[in-house]
Amino acid sequence: MDDYEAFLDRALKQAPAVKTDDTRFVVPMPKIFSEGRTTVLENFGDIVDVLRRDAEHFMKYLLRELGTAGKIEGRRATFQGRFSSDVIKSHVDSYVEEYVICSECGRPDTHLIKSDRVLMLKCDACGGHRPIAKRRVQKEAPKEAVREGEVYEIKIEAIGRKGDGIAKLDKYTIFVPNVSKGDIVKVKVKKVSGTLAFADLVERVS
Ligand SMILES: [Zn+2]
Repeated sequence: MDDYEAFLDRALKQAPAVKTDDTRFVVPMPKIFSEGRTTVLENFGDIVDVLRRDAEHFMKYLLRELGTAGKIEGRRATFQGRFSSDVIKSHVDSYVEEYVICSECGRPDTHLIKSDRVLMLKCDACGGHRPIAKRRVQKEAPKEAVREGEVYEIKIEAIGRKGDGIAKLDKYTIFVPNVSKGDIVKVKVKKVSGTLAFADLVERVS
C-alpha cells in the first residue's frame, strides 16, 4: 500500500511536468526574404521540427492556402510570388489549429491517423480524437467575410474619384486612402458596410 501511495504521489507530482511541456511548443516566427518574385521561407525546417508533422504535408497545405507553387529546398521552402511573414504566419497558425492542436485539451502532443479513409487527429495527452475534414469545413466558412479590425493584404486596382485606393476581396470592395494604383498593401479594416469596406494603410508590401 505504501508503495502504491508513493507511486501515486510521484504520478501526481509528474502531472504538472507534462503541462510545462506545452510552453515549449512555440512555433518559430516565419523568417522570410524575397528573391525577385520568389519568397524564401528560411526556417521552414525549424517550423516543421516544432510541428512534428510531415514536411510534404505541411508544404502542400501552405501552397494550397497561398494559392501558389513552390518547393522544399533542404531546410528552406520557396514560394512563387511575394508573401509577407504575417501572411505565412497566419497559415502556419491555421495549420497548427487544424492539424496539430487537440481541440479537447489544447495540447500539441498529437499525431495524425487514417481511420476509414478519414484523417483523424489523435491526442497522446488526453486520448481525444477528431476528424480533420469536419473541422476544416467549419473553419473555412467565415473566411470569406471581410471583418472590422482584421488586417488583409490586398492589391490596389484603381483610384476612386476622391483619391482613395480601391481593391477587391471576394465580394467586397475596399477603400484605402494614401495609396497608389498597383500597390500591394496591408490594410486594417475599420468599417464594413454591406459589401463596402473602409480601411487604413498598415504597411506597403510592394
Ligand atoms: Zn488532448
